[in-house]
Amino acid sequence: MLISIVAPCYNEEEVIGRFHEVVQKVANELLPLGHDMEFVYVDDGSRDRTLEVLKQLGELDARVRYVSFSRNFGKEAALLAGLRHASGDCVVVMDSDLQHPPELIKRMVELSEQGYDQVIAKRTRSGDRITRTVTARLYYRLINRLVDVELVDGVGDFRLLSRRVVDAILALTEYNRFSKGLFAWVGFPSTTFEYENAVREHGRSSWSFRSLLNYGLDGLLSFNNRPLRAALYLGMGLLLCAGLYTAWIVGAALIHGVQTPGYVTMITAVTALAGVQMIMLGVIGEYTGRIYYEVKGRPHFLVKATNVERTRAGEPRGTAKDLIP
Ligand code: UDP
Ligand code: MG
Repeated sequence: MLISIVAPCYNEEEVIGRFHEVVQKVANELLPLGHDMEFVYVDDGSRDRTLEVLKQLGELDARVRYVSFSRNFGKEAALLAGLRHASGDCVVVMDSDLQHPPELIKRMVELSEQGYDQVIAKRTRSGDRITRTVTARLYYRLINRLVDVELVDGVGDFRLLSRRVVDAILALTEYNRFSKGLFAWVGFPSTTFEYENAVREHGRSSWSFRSLLNYGLDGLLSFNNRPLRAALYLGMGLLLCAGLYTAWIVGAALIHGVQTPGYVTMITAVTALAGVQMIMLGVIGEYTGRIYYEVKGRPHFLVKATNVERTRAGEPRGTAKDLIP
């Protein structure tokens, strides 16, 4: 069995060499069991020496394939590129910053041999800041109520995918990619195991609170149109409240005569309703924006340099542009 390791790298010059050493060690241990390995590293437009390091690795180790983007296209694009350029019978997707312990690959391969198409590593949240743990928990509780696929806290991109899962993912050509959701959407027999979270050793996480918030909204919006439905219900609820309130005021006027006070009520109603309308417009705008991006049909990434000549035959390759060095 050929196992492809797909790892996106963004400004990882300090760790990528060590990462490769560690996975190489794992590869050597898997070799006697009849498993070959290849490494697909995607340089996501790093501004440091990541590409040079990858080129060196490619010269030293014939199993290294690298793809380098013309600029930073984001991790989702890097993952897609990695999957397209991987030729393995199964693919292990993992971060290149050693936060996903490579020793677990053996465990994953064992489980995949038991017939699972997705072997998912779930991290504990030990070592995380308490604020992030709590917001994550709240977020998952909310989002699982809203989207159709099930998203699990601590489950990320660290997983083994069988060839048919990879092909299924590659067949989803949408521009706005939320891979957590895509993996869950594809389905197939899956199993999950837990591992202890490792704290980042070098560099900085590229996630700020704001980017996490945006990521969360992406998750919410890219999977269904339930937010639109929620807006509809909110509108109906408000209309009902307005009707009841009007009836009450008219009733009071009939019983006690006309009274003029009501400035506060008036201002509250005007501003609150304006706020609600803006939110609904925002929700509609989000969907329209997504349609806009899909319709443009631009490639997910542009390749600046690679040592991969062809992707696996017969697999969906996307536009030819994606592959032009
Ligand atoms: N990454 C990437 N492009 C980006 C940001 C991150 O390819 O624009 C890669 C990064 O090199 C790492 C993985 O995605 O291998 C996870 O990134 P990071 O460690 O910053 O995120 P976290 O571990 O905090 O979720
Ligand atoms: Mg990380």
